[in-house]
Order: sequence, then structure tokens, then C-alpha cells
Amino acid sequence: MHNNPWESAQKQLERAHSRLSLDPLLHARLSQPDRIVEVSIPLMMDDGTVRVFDGFRIQHNNSRGPYKGGLRYHQDVDMDEVKALSFWMTMKNAIIDVPFGGGKGGVVVNPKELSEGELERLTREFTRKLVPVIGPSLDVPAPDVNTNGKIMAWIRNEYEKMTNSIAPGVVTGKPLENGGSEGRTEATGLGGSFALDEILSLRGEKAAGKTVAIQGFGNVGSYLAEYLQAGGYRVVALADSRSGIYKEDGFADLKAIEAHKKLTGSLANFPGANTIAHEDVLSLPVDIAVPAALENSITKENAESIRASVVLEMANGPTTPEADEILAKRGVIVIPDVLANSGGVAVSYFEWYQNIHDEKWTKADVFQKLEEKMRSASRAVFESSLEHRVTLRDAAYLVALQRLSSV
Ligand code: NAD
Repeated sequence: MHNNPWESAQKQLERAHSRLSLDPLLHARLSQPDRIVEVSIPLMMDDGTVRVFDGFRIQHNNSRGPYKGGLRYHQDVDMDEVKALSFWMTMKNAIIDVPFGGGKGGVVVNPKELSEGELERLTREFTRKLVPVIGPSLDVPAPDVNTNGKIMAWIRNEYEKMTNSIAPGVVTGKPLENGGSEGRTEATGLGGSFALDEILSLRGEKAAGKTVAIQGFGNVGSYLAEYLQAGGYRVVALADSRSGIYKEDGFADLKAIEAHKKLTGSLANFPGANTIAHEDVLSLPVDIAVPAALENSITKENAESIRASVVLEMANGPTTPEADEILAKRGVIVIPDVLANSGGVAVSYFEWYQNIHDEKWTKADVFQKLEEKMRSASRAVFESSLEHRVTLRDAAYLVALQRLSSV
């Protein structure tokens, strides 16, 4: 059955509300986005015909700072999904404690059907429509599904032309030469490794030798694998959208796996490893299972089969509420997405901060500040889970709502 993400988000809010008895005004504010902006984007195609695309930006809450969140280009972009994602950004930014609120947006388009010129014209027209509601101290978009640094650079340029200003802080995730930050590419994977490490050490557990299976070997999964390996974990299984590979005693050389994937287009048949079905990777006998690919990958159908004692949620919304209950009953520790993958937005904040203050930090500076943010957010969530005797997910929402209540 299709899981409606906005309904899940509202359930999460209600659960936290019932424990904290939120101020009714704050509760009402968080129950709906502040503002939904819908725009129409007429586009002259290369062949001279005109097509009209729908775009929108949802601004959920800005009580802690400018709205912040990605823009996705996808044919299935849907209002409820984007509303949920904007709510999660409000929560995530409060948990990682950056001075941003939550937003998200997108265009209903399959960008793979557009030429480079069409994509640029679409982005510039979309930006012109958004100019009144975005800006460095108002709402700061970023890349998301099918958008990237190049698209962010077009948005910056169009915004600056329209407002006759220099405004690198209007978007994050820009290319380095265009005001981007060192360390943004690695940030989400590296941040996840700090969150895992901190939670395990607060539980009195050591990284050394713990086995890890990762679903998703893209930006997030590949950096996470690398940093976990360097931290003494044993990465034993990986999967992408086509297949999985499993090596009980751990992969010695992750770079060789990347090279194999580049060469053959798939992880399958990596020498020395067993090729497995990609959907089996999270059910292997490992200590830590990591969904780092898609939403809804742990459902009530497969939650019983998870054998790991810890699930590190690197994807957004990878566990359905029903699956979450099953995992909690079975005593599986779930490090929730709003904490585990917040390293990306933490470094987006560093990028924005550098833009606003005209500074350039080294990668080492960025990583050090990221580590401080991730460890301190993980400690706050862990302590809240002990204090309120709740799961880490519920605790993360409690931390966020307490921070939102105190502004
Ligand atoms: P990506 O596109 O670089 O990688 C996605 C990976 O998932 C690819 O390797 C793909 O082959 C794999 N995949 C797709 N379907 C799969 C399946 N059914 N089974 C196994 N693997 C599958 O994306 P990414 O940037 O690495 O993002 C991954 C997840 O993390 C997404 O949910 C994203 O929303 C979330 N996230 C990303 C960031 C970031 O900074 N990139 C930040 C926060 C959250």
C-alpha cells in the first residue's frame, strides 16, 4: 500500500505533541506549512513548441531562520511529499541546531527529456517566479533529486540579475568556483558516520569490527562506506539499484568496487564477493543496516527480517511508521534520518555562512565543525531518549520541538 509521507509526518508531530503538550499555537503552526507557492513555468522548447510546467515551493516554518531545503525536478513531484519533506527540514534544522527553518520545492518535469538549454531556461523562468519569496535571509534552496550545482549556479545568477545584487547566499550546493563550500560532497556520508559513532559510544559500544550493510552506493552510501571503514567498521555488503554484493569478512578496497561499478555499470560480479539480490542487503546478518537509497525501503513486509541491532537511516523516510513500530518492539535501535543525514544541511549552513561573511574555510575546518555539530546533536537526542524513555526518533522530534518552542 502506498505510504503518504505527509500523513507519516503528521503522525510523528502528533506523537511528539502528546508527550510534550506543545503550546497550541506552535502546534497549529507546525501542522501546516506557512506558505505554499505554486507557479506556472511556460517554456519554449528547442523545436519551437511551448510547454507549461508546474513548479512550487513550500515554506513550512521560519521561526528559527530562513526557510531552507532542496528543489527537486521529477515527473512524480507531488504536493504531499513536498509538504512532508519541508516539515522534516524544519525538524532536521532544529535538531542539528542551525539557524534555518524548513522548506522544499520542485518542478513536475522529467529533466532527462530536456536538452541542456531547455533545462537552463526552465530553471531561470522558475527562479524569476520565485524571486519574491526566496533570498539569503528569506528562503535558501539547495540541490535535491535531479538538481545539482550547475542548476544552483543558474538560480544564483538569475536571482542576482533580477534583484540587481550580489547574493551567493540565495542557494547552497553551488560549485566551489561559484561560492560553494569545501566538504559539501562528503558531508552527508561523513556526518552519518559521526552520528553512528557517537550513538554507539554513548551506548558503551565500540566501532571496531562491527559489520555494516549499505543499501545505496551513490553520493551518500559511498562516502559513508569509506568513512566507516576508516573508523574501524567492517563494510561487508553493498547494493545499488541493480544488484548487491556480500563478502562476509569485509571489503578490503572500496575504491576497487567503485572502479568496477564504473567499468561494468553494476556492482554485480565484483571479484571475491557473492552477488546477491539488491533487496536482500538489509536483511543480512550484520550489526548495522543502512538504508541509503530511497524512501519506504523498510516496510512491515520486511521489518521482521532485519537482523541488525542498529539501523542507520541515511535516506529520507526509509522506514514506514508500521515498520518503525516493529523494529522498536524488537529492540532494534533506529538512528533516525532527521539526525543521521543532517550532515548535508549542516555543511549547507556552513556554505551560506561563508557566503554571508565572505569567508573561505578549508576542508579540515568544515569537517571539524561538522563533527562537532553531529556529535552534539547525537548527544542531545540520546539524552532526550533516556529522559523521556522513548526511541531515538521520538527523542529527535522532542529535541526539535523544544528548540522550536524556545524561540
Ligand atoms: P544518489 O542518487 O547519489 O544515490 C542513490 C543510490 O541508491 C544509487 O547508488 C542507486 O543505484 C541506489 N538505489 C536506488 N534504488 C535502489 C534500490 N532499490 N536498492 C538499492 N539501491 C538502490 O543519491 P544520494 O545523494 O546518495 O541520496 C541517497 C538518499 O539519501 C536519498 O534518500 C536522499 O534523499 C538522501 N539524502 C541525501 C543527501 C545528500 O546530501 N546527498 C542529504 C540528505 C539525505
